[in-house]
Amino acid sequence: MRDVSPWREPVPASGTMGDPRARGRFGEYGGRYAPESLVEACREVDEAFREARADPGFRGALAELLALHAGRPTPLTPARRLSQELGVRLYLKREDLTHTGSHKINNVLGQALLAARMGRRRLIAETGAGQHGVATATAAALLGLEATVFMGERDIERQALNVFRMRMLGAEVIPVTTGSRTLKDATSEAMRHWVGVTGDSHYCVGSVIGPDPYPWMVREFQRVIGDEARGQCAAELRTGVPDHVVACVGGGSNAAGTFAGFADTSARFVGVEAEGGAGAARGRLGVLHGCRSLFLQDDDGQIVEAHSIAPGLDYPGVGPEHAHLRDLGRARYVTVTDEEAVAAAVRLARTEGIVPALESAHALAWVIRAAGGELPAGSTVLMTLSGRGDKDISTLKELV
Ligand SMILES: *Cc1c(COP(=O)(O)O)cnc(C)c1O
Repeated sequence: MRDVSPWREPVPASGTMGDPRARGRFGEYGGRYAPESLVEACREVDEAFREARADPGFRGALAELLALHAGRPTPLTPARRLSQELGVRLYLKREDLTHTGSHKINNVLGQALLAARMGRRRLIAETGAGQHGVATATAAALLGLEATVFMGERDIERQALNVFRMRMLGAEVIPVTTGSRTLKDATSEAMRHWVGVTGDSHYCVGSVIGPDPYPWMVREFQRVIGDEARGQCAAELRTGVPDHVVACVGGGSNAAGTFAGFADTSARFVGVEAEGGAGAARGRLGVLHGCRSLFLQDDDGQIVEAHSIAPGLDYPGVGPEHAHLRDLGRARYVTVTDEEAVAAAVRLARTEGIVPALESAHALAWVIRAAGGELPAGSTVLMTLSGRGDKDISTLKELV
C-alpha cells in the first residue's frame, strides 16, 4: 500500500498549524461554546481522535479508504497554457478528481471511520447546497452506517438533485423550517438534534468550524492535500516549495489542509473568499455554532446571511484557525466577485480543459488578478482545485 496517510510530517505542538492541545484554541479563537452535554460529546470525540491518529491500524485503514475508494493521491497538474498566458507557473492540486468530486470526501471518510471506531451507528450532518451531505451519505454507505442530514427547506427546493442523490445513497434528509431555512439554520438544528443522541450518533462537521476538536480534526483529515502537494512540489519545483499557496475559503477546510502541508516553509498563503461571504476579510468577532471566530454581523451582532454564486462559499463565517492565521499575518485573505469567478471558470475550461467548481474558480480568479500585478513574472503558484464544476453547470449555463 502506498503511504498516503495524513500526518506524515507531524507539526510540533508549538508551531503554527500544530495541535491546539487541551485549550482547543487558535490564539483567541476556537473553543467549545456548546451546551454541557455537547461539551462532553466533543471531549469524547477529541479523545477518540487523539487515540486514533496515534494508532497505525487506524491510519492504515484510512490510507486504504483514501486510495481505493476516494482515488488518492490526486495529481499535481501544471496548467501549461494558462501559465504561459499569465506569466507565472501555476500548478493545480486536483481534488476535483476524487470520488464525489471534491475534497470533502477526505474529511468524511476520516470522521466516518472514527465514528465506527467509537461504536457509533449513525452520522449526523448539516448541508447547504448538498455537497457535504452527499459526501457524508457516501461515507456512511461505504462503512455501513446510517446518515441523517439536516438541510434548510429553501436549499432543498434549490438543490433537488443532491437531495435525491443523498436518498439514493440511503440517507435520511430532514428539512429545516426555522430562520432563513438555509445552511446556518440547518447547522443549528443538527447540533440541537445531536444533544439527544450523542451516545449512538457522531456529528460529522463539514469544514474547519464548530466546537473544538472539529476545526483541528477536520484540518488534520484535510492535510492529506497539503502533504501530498508538498511531496509533489519537491519533485516538480527546483526550489521544492512554491512561492504562493492559494485556496478558496468557505469555512476553510481545503485551504487549511493545503496550508498545513507548507506551514514550516516560506510559502505565502492566500485564502480567497467570496465577496459576499468574506468572514476572514470582513467578519467581526463573535460566537456561532460552538466556536469563537469571525462572522459577518450587523450592528446588533446578528449574523448576516452570506451570498455567493458558489454554494460552498455561502457561509457567514470562517474557521477559527484562519482568523488566527490572519491575525498572525501568516495568511492573507482576499475577496473575489461572482463575475470574476465565472470568468476564471471559463478561462480554465478553455485553456486547460478543466471545468472547475465555482468555489475553486474564486481561487483561480485571484491568481489571474494577481498575475497582472503583485505576482512577479515566473512566480510559482500552487492552487488547490477543490472540486469539479459538474454541480455548477446549470448556474454556468445561464451566465456563459
Ligand atoms: C464545500 C466546498 C468548498 C468550501 O469548503 P471549505 O471548507 O472552505 O474548503 C470549496 N470547494 C468545493 C468544491 C466545495 O464543495
